[in-house]
Amino acid sequence: MGQGPPLWAHAIPLVESSSMTPTHDEPQLRRDQSPWTTRRLLGWITEYVGSKSIDSPRLVAEMLLAHVIGCERMRLYMEVDRPASPLELTTLRALVARAAKHEPVQYLVGHAWFFGREFQIDKRVLIPRPCTETLVQHVLQHRRAAPGHANPIIADIGTGSGCIAISLAIHIANAKVIATDESPDAIDLARVNAQRHGVEDQIEFRLGRDLQPLTSGSSRGEFDIICSNPPYISDAEWAEVEPNVRDFEPPAALRGGADGLDLIRVLIAEAGQLLRPGGQLVMEIAHSQREAVLELVASADLLTNPIVLKDHEDFWRVLIAD
Ligand code: GLN
Repeated sequence: MGQGPPLWAHAIPLVESSSMTPTHDEPQLRRDQSPWTTRRLLGWITEYVGSKSIDSPRLVAEMLLAHVIGCERMRLYMEVDRPASPLELTTLRALVARAAKHEPVQYLVGHAWFFGREFQIDKRVLIPRPCTETLVQHVLQHRRAAPGHANPIIADIGTGSGCIAISLAIHIANAKVIATDESPDAIDLARVNAQRHGVEDQIEFRLGRDLQPLTSGSSRGEFDIICSNPPYISDAEWAEVEPNVRDFEPPAALRGGADGLDLIRVLIAEAGQLLRPGGQLVMEIAHSQREAVLELVASADLLTNPIVLKDHEDFWRVLIAD
């Protein structure tokens, strides 16, 4: 680490304070001070955002610095002594101040990783989460175990950034995917992501609520997979949600009504009619909803064999029924 004075402990208040005018005792980046190298910046940002109870502070530091420099995260570690330019420092300070106020780093840098690929995201859509990869993994494993139809038709309800639909289209070359959302903004962004990953010809985007975009066509009994990461947070759980989620992500993508099951109920009640024999409903749920969704499937007409899979954090996460 550099041996200079602890500039950063002071540098951020420069951004956060009501007065933006530096006073004589606030640090300035002078030429005679040791430079703000990548190593020092990572160390300071990690400590600073960590002190604000932000999750994964080192990752936040790496993502912000790589974004400002315009490089891959790996590159940071190949050039740890690289000095940051004054413009980079100014840009970085502003972003670190926002991250410290719980703005998700993925919104700050404009992208998130999902299933090994980068997706463009912004505050119009939910940030893709690692737990949702469980759903994609299941669909791909199921296809390998029981290949079924050679040209499967898959629906992704509430596609958001498109991360599920696009990951499936990439990995199932002959699949046709119908990706829906009630938000035109989400559809716009999902389309951008589909183009970016070269699967725009495989995916048809349809605007609309719950399963309506599927029933408008002649799609009854046609789907091999209906998958969804629906909004499922109940009112009680919403009160406990972290500020980075509650204050920044779109509530429509998160809140599922009083018990969190509003959309889940509709999907379980109606998916059966749209699935091909042997087709599956594959849906993300909250850990607390396992019993409730198993009961809903038990009383649904056309769905059987419900199971719930756990995610990488050992939480009940994905309902499967056929
Ligand atoms: N797992 C997300 C969260 O708890 C919720 C995602 C969703 O509602 N689909 O933040």
